[in-house]
Amino acid sequence: MSKVIQYSIALIFLFIILFSSIAKVEGKKKKGNKIKVLLIDGQSKHHSHWKEWSPILLLQLNESGMFQIDIATSPMKGESLDNFNPKFRNYDVIVSTYNGDNWSARAQRNLEKFMTLGGGLVVVHAADNAFSGWEGYNNMIGLGGWENRTEKSGSYIFYNKNGDLVRDTSPGVEGNQDTQYEFLVETRSPRHPIMKDIPDQWLHVNDELYNRLRGPAMGMEILATAFSSSKYEGSERHEPVLMTVKYGEGRVFHTTMGHSKEALSCTGFITTFIRGCQWAADREVTFEVPEDFPTKDNVRSRSNK
Ligand code: ZN
Repeated sequence: MSKVIQYSIALIFLFIILFSSIAKVEGKKKKGNKIKVLLIDGQSKHHSHWKEWSPILLLQLNESGMFQIDIATSPMKGESLDNFNPKFRNYDVIVSTYNGDNWSARAQRNLEKFMTLGGGLVVVHAADNAFSGWEGYNNMIGLGGWENRTEKSGSYIFYNKNGDLVRDTSPGVEGNQDTQYEFLVETRSPRHPIMKDIPDQWLHVNDELYNRLRGPAMGMEILATAFSSSKYEGSERHEPVLMTVKYGEGRVFHTTMGHSKEALSCTGFITTFIRGCQWAADREVTFEVPEDFPTKDNVRSRSNK
């Protein structure tokens, strides 16, 4: 092989190496612009359902192209959680379906600190059942249910049939769920970025509608409600289903929807979930309302394989 050819080959290799290292830097830059999400799962009173939920939530986050996601799966119920201490500070937003044994004091403190300093938290469905004895967490979620919550946990918050927002401190059950059915979701804060262009009313697929949740509800804004009908063992109240909560400098988006794979696949759930993640991460909410968004009369969902 002549020297000229040898030099040419060497030069080509040099260019390839240079080009690929530039591409790597470019790749990192783009990733840096993505919202860093930590999905927390591993325990739920829905038993092993969380194993079905996480892939669906991951798919939705990935398909949007806006997120870079890690998962922190806790040890199983009854196992020691002493070493379960997710690095919240490495993320923009924490998404939780976790509802299980109490975390260590250190992990609790770390989440409180992360949120106080401006972190984001997205609470999905039964994650609002968790940690009834943890004051900081209850302040984050605004409203919660079950696990011995009582009037000491805070008020019931709902809209009555006249459209008045009611804060009811009377004693009573703490969290309940209707028999699963399709229910109409009604916007209460149309000007909130998460609700932009979302219809005033849309039909959610078969799901549990949580009712009679209680909590401190400080800095809470109800974005949407659904009427909990006595026909389905409900409360006859317009119950909050989408909320935001301010916690220190942090931002919380809380959806009570999402009991099953079917519920998580509703395009109404998907849209509000993705937007909630953007909002909680303190980013501009840019996720468009899709063409297959549910209407007042028709549910719409995506298949999740
Ligand atoms: Zn459920």
